[in-house]
Parts: sequence; C-alpha cells; structure tokens
Amino acid sequence: MIGVVGQIPCAQDVVTGSTRGVELAAQKDCQNGCFGRHSRPSFGINKMKTLVLLGDGMGDFPVEELGNRTPLQAAHAPTMRRIAAAGEVRMVSTVPEGLPPGSDVANMAILGYDAALNYTGRAPIEAAGADLPMGAEDVAFRCNLVTVQDGVMVDYSAGHISTEEAAELIEALQAGLGTEGLAFHVGVQYRHLLIWKGGAADAFCMPPHEISDRAVAEHLPDGAGAEAIQELMERSKAILAAHPVNQRRVAEGKAPATQIWLWGQGRSMQLDSYQALYGLKGGIVSAVDLLKGLAKLAGLEAPTVEGATGLIDTNYAGKVAAAQEILMREDFAYLHIEAPDECGHLGDAALKTEAIERFDAQVCAPMLAWLEERGEPYQVIVTMDHRTPVSLKGHCSDPVPMAHLCGPVGTVSKELPFDETVNNGISQGMACAWMQEILNSSADG
Ligand SMILES: [Zn+2]
Repeated sequence: MIGVVGQIPCAQDVVTGSTRGVELAAQKDCQNGCFGRHSRPSFGINKMKTLVLLGDGMGDFPVEELGNRTPLQAAHAPTMRRIAAAGEVRMVSTVPEGLPPGSDVANMAILGYDAALNYTGRAPIEAAGADLPMGAEDVAFRCNLVTVQDGVMVDYSAGHISTEEAAELIEALQAGLGTEGLAFHVGVQYRHLLIWKGGAADAFCMPPHEISDRAVAEHLPDGAGAEAIQELMERSKAILAAHPVNQRRVAEGKAPATQIWLWGQGRSMQLDSYQALYGLKGGIVSAVDLLKGLAKLAGLEAPTVEGATGLIDTNYAGKVAAAQEILMREDFAYLHIEAPDECGHLGDAALKTEAIERFDAQVCAPMLAWLEERGEPYQVIVTMDHRTPVSLKGHCSDPVPMAHLCGPVGTVSKELPFDETVNNGISQGMACAWMQEILNSSADG
C-alpha cells in the first residue's frame, strides 16, 4: 500500500481474516487515521463485557445407559468445568413456585427477570418477537402443528415439519377457521401463533412437548373457556387431513400434521429494558422465536444467524461469530443453544451427551478463548434454563448449576464438577436474583 498519511491501511487491516486481527483492531485506537470499524473503541464507556452461555435443557438425572451418570457428567466438557473451577459455581432455581418449567419462564430467570412478577404466557413473548401487535382484549396462543395417532401425542413437532410446508398448512387453517378476531400467523417449523380476541386467557393448556407418547384425551385444555379451545383444535383436523402437504408427507413416510395444539396463551407482556435496568445494550443469539421475543421485550437485539436450526446440526460457528460481533459493539450477549433440550425431548441420552460436548467445544471454548485474548475485563456465565431429563422427555423444575467467572484469568487447567451434584443438588437461591447482582456489578464496572 502507498505510504500517504490518511490512506495507509492501519496495521490491523493486514491481519484481517483472523479473530485475533479483528480483536487487536478493536482494542487499539488506530493511529493511522483510518475509519470504519477500527475507528470505534470497542469498550465504549468501559463497562465490563458480560456473556451468558446457555445450553437449553442440559440438566438431567442419572441415566443407566450412561453408567448412572447424567449427560452433563458423561460429557467431555472441560471448558464448563474450568469456568466452574476458576470462578464460582452455585445450584440455582430457575422456576418460581406455581409456574410451569418452560423455557420461557426459565430463560427469563437467567436474564434476571422474576417471572413471578412479569410472566403472562409463552405465546405473548413469541408474539413480541414476531412483532405482532396485541390489543387489550387479545390473547396470544402458541399453535403447534402436531401428530396425534390413535389418540396419542406421537410428535409435538409433526416430524419437525419444514417452515415451507407449515406455512401452507397455516394458510389453509386461516382460510378455513380464521375470523376477524381469530388470526393464525406463520412461525418457524412446527411453531406458530394464534391471536384470539377474547380468547380464554385462564384456561389450563398443556404444552404438547410435555405429553409425548401420552393419551391426549387426558391432557386436553381445561378450565374457563376450554371448550372453545378444544373445539378449534378439533376443527383443524379435517382441514389438515385433506391438505396435499400432509398427503405428500404420509406418502413419503413422514409424520403428518394431524391437528393444531393450542397452549402457552396469555395477554400482552411488558418487561423493563436492559438499558433502563442496567444501562446495558446487547443482544441474544438464538435460533428459537421464544428467545427472540424475550430479546425484543428486554430491548436487546436478536440477530438472525444463517443455519441456526435449534438442532444438533446448528451453525455453531455462526452463532459464536454473532455473539462476538455484538460484544465488539455492546456490553451484553446471551448465546443460546437449543440442541440439548431437543435431545432431552427425544429421550436420547447419547445424543444429548453429544449435544453438550458440542456446546462445550464449539461454543464455550471459542467464546472463552476470545474473551481471554481481548485481555480486558469480562464476566461469563455458563448455565442452563432447566432440566430436560431424557427419562421424562420433558422439563422439570429441579435446580440447575450456574457458574460465573470474572476474567481474564489466563490459562486454567483445573476442573471442578459442573453438573447436577453442585451443592449436593440443593438450590442456593433464585437464578434471577444472582443474575441481577451480576448485571448490576457489570454496570458499575
Ligand atoms: Zn428450555
């Protein structure tokens, strides 16, 4: 390059293509007068960077197939164990009493929100994520496409139906069942939404992933207004059975979407933003709509990462890069990996162990190394939202381990258990309270 002041690429440009190069560039004030991404100091107003690494549903119970170990114990997961050894590890509760152990409630806890005060339902969170406006009388329902055969919930995801196929089915449902006060909205794969004006907000509706392999007749919507919900679910059957998408799936040996399953309903939900609570900006990196909705409600960004599937084949490197990109600009990132939860729902202990190993090796390890390389103050939290025991193929409210490390700490080789045996499995308090402490300290940093 030509050595004219003002046109010289700064030295950092020479090292582009490596994380280290971008890193150096972001840390230094460029002396060469270049503009663009190098011109902005990465640490802004000098808050400590805070990163949450969350493996959805990682917690479990001992599994015979794994030698009476839990998947977390059986997994080769040195990074999580080093974070536990170099920092502090506690057993925490993520589900307030009286609330269901859903990913919504439990992720709110890890984000530092007390769901007992703020939670109205899962669907309103997803509606926020999808930018669906909700009026005062509106009730948002999660609308799953499910497979029920011989009265049994065979698949809460209709064979992980594709978004393209699902969109056609949801459009047919809107045409057949939609009214002025009843609107179906296409989501991702099997996960859709229904906004129902005057819908039954207080009926008890079972999440379909909690009744895998069970008779649906025993778990139909119950309580005030449940009949109308049951009726709508019933009316969806004929529309779906007649649809070419389903006929094609049956011919291909795939699970058809035999009906909708409505659940997770509630009225519009509000949260105080991270900016208002902690003076923090940042984002949540996740494949799932629920986390994107929580991001919107918390005033955080939620980038779309190509190839982020929510399954074990997700684009780990893309998600890591997205979290790093957020932390280059802002002070908070929440990196959510859904795969361990999905494996728990499948009841597959070996696959869940592999999902945890991938989370450790492809998410925790590179993120920790990156934060260490920066050489500037950071804190990292590694945890899970809830347990999804393979024996239950569903969630439970038992406490989960949570580790917090303030760095940089240099090379750590010591490992401590990061599993369900922390503090003998006994909860040491609510996760939201510890997170609030941690987030407040980052704001002071
Ligand atoms: Zn979860």
